[in-house]
Amino acid sequence: MSDRIEVLRGDLTQQNVDAIVNAANSSLLGGGGVDGAIHRAAGPQLLAECRQLNGCETGEAKITQGYNLPAKWVIHTVGPVWRGSSLGRDDPRPEDELLARCYRNCLQLTQEYPIATIAFPAISTGVYRFPKLRAAKIAVREVRQFLARNSALELVLFVCFSDPDRSIYQQALEGSHRAR
Ligand code: ADP
Repeated sequence: MSDRIEVLRGDLTQQNVDAIVNAANSSLLGGGGVDGAIHRAAGPQLLAECRQLNGCETGEAKITQGYNLPAKWVIHTVGPVWRGSSLGRDDPRPEDELLARCYRNCLQLTQEYPIATIAFPAISTGVYRFPKLRAAKIAVREVRQFLARNSALELVLFVCFSDPDRSIYQQALEGSHRAR
């Protein structure tokens, strides 16, 4: 099962997968970070389609076409803004469940569309300030749970923007191996 998960350092917008996930904001009208990069690479038709969607709630996900991207689809999800302390202690916080719902709802859409391969950015870990290892553990847990129940999804890529971010995912994956 774990061979269906890969971590790599790279640019999400360049990934040759069926769907990439956008860490969007609730307007779905574009922003900075990975959202801006996706809109630049996809072209103005993406914004035109997003305008028809009437935004998106935190934890939810909506799908559009990928236009000029290598990916055929973009799944837009809105991660939570981290409001906890910067230490990110282990006590459960509402942001944890909201972030988990982002992953679940994106993965759910792969069942409703012809999507066998999907690439995720580290949702909420940029300007939304979610602690990175904490977010990676949630991402890995949700993807593993989904893959255990769904055989149609062939590959889940976690695309990290830097080597340190990649190491964090590696750590989260190894931790979840030990826990099983
Ligand atoms: P959020 O608002 O959800 O925090 P950001 O776009 O600010 O979203 O950051 C989410 C993550 O995406 C960060 O870890 C950031 O380094 C990363 N990122 C930014 N651009 C790209 C890109 N082109 N490909 C992959 N990851 C990216």
